[in-house]
Order: sequence, then structure tokens, then C-alpha cells
Amino acid sequence: MGNWQEKLRESVTTVDQLIERFGADKVGDPLKLQQAIDKFNLRITPAALDFIRAQGDAFWTQYVPTETELEVHDGIVDSLDEDADSPVPNLTHRYPDRVLFLVSPVCATYCRFCTRRRKVGDPEKIPLNQYEAGFAYIREHTEVRDVIMSGGDPFMLSDRRIEYLLSNLRAIPHVQIVRIHTRMPSHLPERITPELVEIVKRHHPVWVNVHFNHPDELTPAAEKALATLADAGIPLGSQTVLLKGVNDDPAVMKALMHKLVMNRVRPYYIYQADVVAGGEHFRTSLEKGLEVMRALRGWTSGLCNPYYVIDAPGGGGKIPILPEYVEMITDDEVVLRNYAGEVYRYPLPKEPVAAARGMNGNGNGQSALGGHGASRRSGTLPVLNGNGASNGNGHGCGEEVDLLPSELFVD
Ligand code: SF4
Repeated sequence: MGNWQEKLRESVTTVDQLIERFGADKVGDPLKLQQAIDKFNLRITPAALDFIRAQGDAFWTQYVPTETELEVHDGIVDSLDEDADSPVPNLTHRYPDRVLFLVSPVCATYCRFCTRRRKVGDPEKIPLNQYEAGFAYIREHTEVRDVIMSGGDPFMLSDRRIEYLLSNLRAIPHVQIVRIHTRMPSHLPERITPELVEIVKRHHPVWVNVHFNHPDELTPAAEKALATLADAGIPLGSQTVLLKGVNDDPAVMKALMHKLVMNRVRPYYIYQADVVAGGEHFRTSLEKGLEVMRALRGWTSGLCNPYYVIDAPGGGGKIPILPEYVEMITDDEVVLRNYAGEVYRYPLPKEPVAAARGMNGNGNGQSALGGHGASRRSGTLPVLNGNGASNGNGHGCGEEVDLLPSELFVD
């Protein structure tokens, strides 16, 4: 048994152990806690336990179950509707060129906000003998160039099984990259062994996306694990979930992004917390997320600016949410507000008269109005940017200008 497996055995997994560690007065009603654990497993590794300094702090909140998990208002079990987009068990094909492949049913530490709690914690939920159906699907679908291995945590699997998964995926010619999602550097840094890294290296390009929610999770042990991965030439990205009582504070988020970049991890996503049953108490307002993004954009390096996204309920996918920087677009200029709140104007290029008449300016006489027959309408014409090009969906998004009927013909 490796050092990491021994460490895993030292985890807290029962209500009695919680009480022993933190005291009965702190952890709450044991019966209610047991009900919460029956719905979603408890495990807190020694590394994650060490984060916790006080009841209700950012780490307690992430890992210690509460009876609040039993209160379900809007939450749903499969909030992202992943199962509806699963052509074979445990593989979701939602976007055109990539798939999510759930390969592990277990994690080192269970995060109480977990979106995938329906799939995680019980080995029966993602049987390890079902990989073949996933490989076969990916082999048949030549448009799949990117496979995201997730779960659960793929690095909870044995080295032998990770080798098996990666070598099978690498044998599929159209799979260009593999991504592995893991929380091991923070929850079980002992797992990032030289042997594991050797396996990953053999199957490059493999990207590893780590998950950190608070700057204090980047302990010396976590930083060493990240360095081991980065030194093997493994590109590192990070995902963070915006969580009430954990990191819903611009200063905390900025410190986290800085620490990630210092450890050669590129911040990739900040997620708005999902509407998941059992995890609703972690949700924040959207304005809080925008406040965080406003505090990052311009105030610190672009490298420290991830996308802030809502993973749309019902399977809509990740939709970026941006603070408003464009104040107005006219046919002459764009009015912008910068990170410090100051207003600037960007003049748009002036085009020949033909462009304003709906010509595309290259003399071939084709309409630049989007192919919806708009060139033979009379009345007003949507102008997007002054160079005669509409966005092609018949809406435009700028102001409308009056044109003479004769100008609406392109012959
Ligand atoms: S590590 Fe990821 S999959 Fe596992 S419990 Fe935490 S959020 Fe869920």
C-alpha cells in the first residue's frame, strides 16, 4: 500500500469521528448529520482536516456536513442534465468536439457543495467495468478530439487503471488531448507521486485541471504536488466554485488567483454554484460574482482572470457572464467604460458609401445584410457598426437609421 492510500485511511468518515475531532457541541444533531451522510458520503482527508481552524470557517463549510443539506427548495438531483446527454453510461456528449468521461466514483474528500453528488461516493454509481462502452463511443465519433476524465476524482484510481484509461484513449487517432480533473493536490497531495506523473507524461498531451476554492488550500504540500505536475510538462488549469461563506469576497478570490498563477496554474473557470439538491445553501447572488470579476479585470494581470460562468440548468452548457464594459455602440463609435469606471470612445472605421448601401465593399454585389431579404425592404435598416455589416440574424444591435427606399436596393 502506498503512502497516499495509508493517508486516505486516516480520513474522518463517520459522525462519531467528527464529534471526536471537533466536539459534540460543534457538529450538530448526530441523527440529522447521519441523514445528510446517507445522502452523500462523508470523507475528509488529513490534509483537508488540517485546513479547518474553526467551526464555520471556509474549510469547515466546504467539508463538514450540516443538516441544511436536508432542506431542498429549488435544487435538483442532476442539475446540469448530464444524464440526458449520455449516449452510453457515464459519458456526456454535450458540446460538438469533446466529451466528459466519468471514470471514478470516489474522491479523497467529499465537498458538500458537489454538483455531481448523485454519482459520487458509492463505487456502484460508476462501475469500473463500464469503460469499454465509453471507448467504443469515442472511437465511433471522430468529431471527439478532447476527452475530459472526471468523476469523482480520476487520481483516486490505481496507477494501473490510469495507465489503462490513458493508453486506450491515446490509441484513438482523433483524440487530440485528454484532460484530467482532480482535487488531489489540495486534498491528498501524497497521491501526486513520481510514478503517477510518469504515466501521465507517457500520454501527452494531457492537461490537468485542479480545483481550488481558497488561497489557504495552497499549502506547501499542495504547492509541491503542483510543482511535480508542472515540472513534468503537464499544463495546469484551475476551476473554482463561487461559494457563500467560502470565497464570496473579491480579496479572497484575488489572492487565490495570484497564488494559482505563482504555482504555474492558469485560472480557467469561476463557476456560479449550481442549483443542486443538498447544496443550495452555497449559492450566492449573481451580483457577487460580478463584483469578484470587476475586482480582477484590469486590477490584476490578465493571466489571473478566469471566465465566470453559469453552467446552465437543463443542459445549456457553460455560459460566460461578463461585467458590462460596452456602454453604447453607434455607427461611428463604441463607448466603453474601463476597469476604473472611466469612459473612453473607440472610433469605428469609416467605409465607402457603397458599404452603407448594403454592399459588402468587395464589388461582387452581394448583400451584407445577412441573407434574410432585408435589402428589399423599405423603411429603417439596422446598422450594427457603420461598415454595412449586420450580425446576420436580422436583429442588428445598434441604433436604426432611416435610409431612402432607393438605397435599400442592391442590384
Ligand atoms: S472533488 Fe469534485 S467530484 Fe469530488 S466531491 Fe469534490 S467537487 Fe465533487
